[in-house]
Amino acid sequence: MKTIIEPFRVKSVEPIRMTTAVQREDILRRAHFNTFLIHAQDVIIDLLTDSGTSAMSSEQWAGIMRGDESYAGSQSFFRLQHILHELTGFSQILPTHQGRASERILFELVGGKGKVIPNNAHFDTTRANAEHSGAEAVDLAIPEAHDPRSRHPFKGNMDIAALERLIDKVGRDRIPLIMITVTNNTSGGQPVSMQNIRDVRRICDRLNIPLYLDACRFAENAWFIRQREPGFENHSPREIAKQMFELADGATISAKKDGLVNIGGLLLIRDHDLFRKACNSLILTEGYVTYGGLAGRDLDAMAQGFAEVVEPDYLSYRVRSVEYLGEKLLRAGIQIIEPPGGHAIYIDARHFAPHIPREHFPGQAVVCGLYRTGGIRACEIGSVMFGPSRRPDMELVRLAIPRRVYTQSHIDYVAEAAAALFAKRDELRGIRIVEAPDVLRHFTAKFEEM
Ligand SMILES: *Cc1c(COP(=O)(O)O)cnc(C)c1O
Repeated sequence: MKTIIEPFRVKSVEPIRMTTAVQREDILRRAHFNTFLIHAQDVIIDLLTDSGTSAMSSEQWAGIMRGDESYAGSQSFFRLQHILHELTGFSQILPTHQGRASERILFELVGGKGKVIPNNAHFDTTRANAEHSGAEAVDLAIPEAHDPRSRHPFKGNMDIAALERLIDKVGRDRIPLIMITVTNNTSGGQPVSMQNIRDVRRICDRLNIPLYLDACRFAENAWFIRQREPGFENHSPREIAKQMFELADGATISAKKDGLVNIGGLLLIRDHDLFRKACNSLILTEGYVTYGGLAGRDLDAMAQGFAEVVEPDYLSYRVRSVEYLGEKLLRAGIQIIEPPGGHAIYIDARHFAPHIPREHFPGQAVVCGLYRTGGIRACEIGSVMFGPSRRPDMELVRLAIPRRVYTQSHIDYVAEAAAALFAKRDELRGIRIVEAPDVLRHFTAKFEEM
């Protein structure tokens, strides 16, 4: 069979409110051409993010009812701890309200002025938390990560030679830990190979530097390793994930991605002293160590989510459905970051709208076009998001796919709308900023069309 069907049946549905092109024109204008300002009910297919947008399973909803709301020693926590111990081998785990809380606690403990944090590519909040502590965040992706057409199988890999050069330059003592983000979100949801994690581990062992994973999409990464890395064809995603975690001294995780829940995070730490300090910080700012700012029911749903996410049928469907959208866009002539990543398709907006100069935000123009054409909400990742101080390599439009939410016909609809927009791309107009705050301007900026 060629078709990979959704490996679930639908038990509860949420209506989508259809809109006409005329209504969307009015909605877009009232939202000042910023799709973050559009109400969700005015969106037909919402591809703004894959974070916290997963559909939960019937077993997860059962967990919501089972949730033990005891302040200390909740059974839900012990279920979570048990499932994570089986999955990762870690016994010291802390729940947090989301990934960035784990990052804040970690970097408060190990960061600080003069410190340098290497990563294949920091996610925005990881960078922001490292920098907030006073440390410098350095991205060391392999050169292929910057080439949208490179079909390197592990475009998320860390550049090992660049890492060695950095350590030589700044000195081992200024590096409190090395971080690897799986999958690499910033470069398009691209995987990191087991060999690359082992190579970084070898450097860490030689210099006695801890290795941490930003493991938000560890299961998607494990699936890519199974598909693409020789020697792993016959390993289950669960075994591969375990091997990845065994190479690490700790991990920060947003459960809003591969935890298959709408809120939650984790901090895993092997070192006993550091773990004790993290517990104190958690109690001070998030909550007691057996709930970390979440409800007991959230912990239960999260535990079940981490058990389900490594199921081969789920991962095969997940990665294939993202790839399917990527293939359809490429066939329509639309340049995307190749090969498709695990959680999103990234359109190259300069290729899509070559007549719009970068200072007139081609990515934002494509985002507005997708909304007009099909009520599809995407996210600009380019000059609008990064702002004038940090010019990005590329002008991208991200179509992030929520987990278990949309079916193949929804994805077909997205591909059709994108192809229709591409066919009349000459009509896309540049965008001008009318008003914007100094930081994180993409969330609230007001634009107009030229
Ligand atoms: C989402 C994400 C985070 C932050 O997690 P939140 O739950 O949004 O705070 C960190 N790193 C990566 C790679 C992410 O994708």
